[in-house]
Amino acid sequence: RRAEVRERHRETAEQVVPDNTGLYIGGEFVEPAEGGTIDTIDPTTGEVLASVGGATAADIDRAVEAAWDAYESTWSGYSAGKRQRVLLDIADAIDEHSGELAQLESLDNGKPVSESGADVYLAADHFRYFAGIVRGNAGSTMNEDSRLGQVLKEPYGVVGQIIPWNFPLLMASWKLAPALAAGNCSVLKPAEQTPLSALRLAELIDDVVPDGVVNIVPGYGEEAGPPLTGHEDVRKVAFTGSTAVGKQVMKSAADNVTDVTLELGGKSPVVVHPDVDPEKAVRLVSQAIFYNTGECCEAGSRLFVHDDIADDVLSGLAAAVEDMNVGDPLLRETDLGPKVSREQVDRTLDYLDRAEAGGGRFLAGGGVPDDDGLADGCYVEPTLVEGLDHDHEAVQEEIFGPVLDVFRWDDYDEMMALANDVDYGLAGGVVTDDMDAADRTARDIEAGYIWVNTYHDLVAGLPFGGYKQSGIGRELSEETLDHYQQTKTINRSR
Ligand code: NAD
Repeated sequence: RRAEVRERHRETAEQVVPDNTGLYIGGEFVEPAEGGTIDTIDPTTGEVLASVGGATAADIDRAVEAAWDAYESTWSGYSAGKRQRVLLDIADAIDEHSGELAQLESLDNGKPVSESGADVYLAADHFRYFAGIVRGNAGSTMNEDSRLGQVLKEPYGVVGQIIPWNFPLLMASWKLAPALAAGNCSVLKPAEQTPLSALRLAELIDDVVPDGVVNIVPGYGEEAGPPLTGHEDVRKVAFTGSTAVGKQVMKSAADNVTDVTLELGGKSPVVVHPDVDPEKAVRLVSQAIFYNTGECCEAGSRLFVHDDIADDVLSGLAAAVEDMNVGDPLLRETDLGPKVSREQVDRTLDYLDRAEAGGGRFLAGGGVPDDDGLADGCYVEPTLVEGLDHDHEAVQEEIFGPVLDVFRWDDYDEMMALANDVDYGLAGGVVTDDMDAADRTARDIEAGYIWVNTYHDLVAGLPFGGYKQSGIGRELSEETLDHYQQTKTINRSR
């Protein structure tokens, strides 16, 4: 079975890995100034998929210059209607290559192809959403007394954008679509673990986006990140990644008082009320934590289930875990693929060790799967842990893997105090058919996005972003367009 998986991956890689693996600057693929490369690994087989260029400070300078050239010579002269046309063309280019992009994403990240297919669909949809709203972004006026006031929305010019590895293409589109719609040029740094879909996107949009409007610069975080976030000619920084790095990004941007938005980590609670059918709870909770192998910033990673139905829900969850198809992400029937890298596996296993040492009991999973077919890959079993104190590090910190911490409750206020007792506040879930209970819990959770009887549904038009240390700013909405514009007021005397 191992040989079969390797063969399938090699054949698919030959077809879908992009030819151009340099840095995409000013509409061309170029070698990095210092000539460094980064091997990007297929986490299912451990084999190298490609060596891509690794940007350093000199490349970031070059990309920022190319972006300003494009802004001044071309993009700032594009009307909203013309930018809309470009965004729609990008969406079409993504759709036309959707199958190939999904496979590429599954190779590079390890996510099941059914999930990468959804990512590709949503990436195209994101460009269409911002193509739609940009035409209504007309500013406002005040016509009063002896003055005529105009409030203009102006682009920043050049923005720096940094994204993580968990949804590589989708995060690139969450960044590029609003930035371009608002009239900016971008220098975007993908994560070093998963640069391929962004490079393929560059190839696909090369014909439809003027040179230099989009620049893609793969690179290691420490080498390419600070030169971008602290660049004096970058007027806005948008970052998605861990809270620890987000804090560094903010400090670095402070040098030039650069505007920053941050989408950071989470440790989101899912609250199950006693009225609900346990099977429904099992389906939603399992989706909340195990989607994308738990590598979701919004993952529902802390379960608070009411005592009355806890036994049924937990035994149902353990059975659901048993039934999960952990396997090759290129196969449609796979529910759970490998994690993105060996480093992430070790990190998750370390949390599991500490959880066990801290009194945690595994109701399911707890290690790596015992299956020869998966032996080369970065797999971790879907895991349920009960019995930890809520202040244990495996409960307080983001594991970013398929690990659910389980708590039972009967006193609502005590439960809610725990649900909110984390530094994060990105999202939360409520499972109940009692809409009064749903409304109360949704309001009580301190987080920026609450799902009731669903999870992970992030639709363009509903703002997404964090409370507390989960971030600053909102994506997916008109508010996002504002984050990429500055307001100019003209107050004219009449
Ligand atoms: P990370 O913070 O290590 O890396 C994210 C990106 O930042 C990568 O491109 C990396 O190269 C870059 N980077 C690293 N050091 C940098 C520095 N000093 N300056 C500038 N850039 C630097 O995070 P990760 O481990 O790749 O991603 C997982 C994290 O991202 C999780 O904590 C997750 O919750 C978070 N995340 C949040 C959202 C959201 O929307 N809130 C979405 C996806 C992921």
